Amino acid sequence: DDVLRLAGIRKSYGVGKPTETEILHGIDLVLEKGEFAALIGPSGSGKSTLLNLIGLLDRPTSGTLTINGTDTTALDDAQLTRLRGHSIGFVFQSHYLISAFTALENVMMPMLLERGRPDAAMREVARGLLDRVGLAKWRDHLASDMSGGQQQRVAIARSLAMSPPLILADEPTGNLDTKSADSVFALMREVSASSGTTFLLVTHNLALAHQCDRIIELVDGQVVAMAGG
Ligand code: ADP
Ligand code: ADP
Repeated sequence: DDVLRLAGIRKSYGVGKPTETEILHGIDLVLEKGEFAALIGPSGSGKSTLLNLIGLLDRPTSGTLTINGTDTTALDDAQLTRLRGHSIGFVFQSHYLISAFTALENVMMPMLLERGRPDAAMREVARGLLDRVGLAKWRDHLASDMSGGQQQRVAIARSLAMSPPLILADEPTGNLDTKSADSVFALMREVSASSGTTFLLVTHNLALAHQCDRIIELVDGQVVAMAGG
């Protein structure tokens, strides 16, 4: 079962302008259900560009991108937004929590955006997710009162709220000390193993990358090596 399939993905910026530049030069990539893959590569190699395409935040110039069996090529913006909401969870280097909301309220956000108003079922799901990331006792604390590692755990719980098959994690441990980074990484691996969620982890931390199932290395807009497995 592939959760993500990229075939011949190219991306240019400034299409039709004198500054037109191709950044991604034909990426082929398949991620299976439950895979935990690292995406590495030097600054400027196109990692963010690729992640934006996979996250359905931008469209490829050519090539096909299939998520959970849905070919995204012909979808309009509203359909992409809907597919993104149901298929992709995001964890960023900056957690983007709402600091004036509690941990529980932050985890409820994706469900609120989808369904409009809070209900008991949403709270129950959010409580369960906070239990799962080891923050049961912190659910009513404001995000701003939590440590960096705890905030990233809340962000991981939030990314799971819609039970997406795929989670994109962009330098999720980049702002954390080694101990917190290791523990947040271990949490993501545990979540992936227990739920079958596919992870694509962008990281500069090679020690963590080597603990992933697979390393996808991007150099100058091309995949140069896929190690591990
Ligand atoms: P990387 O993870 O490889 O550092 P980023 O996605 O963080 O890539 O950044 C992409 C490009 O934008 C890089 O060249 C980086 O230096 C630049 N960049 C990233 N964040 C900022 C920022 N806040 N201000 C200015 N430039 C930035
Ligand atoms: P990485 O995340 O690996 O650092 P990026 O995908 O951020 O790489 O950047 C790859 C290249 O694309 C860089 O040369 C960057 O300057 C360029 N780039 C990124 N975003 C844009 C944009 N919106 N317009 C034009 N060029 C861009």
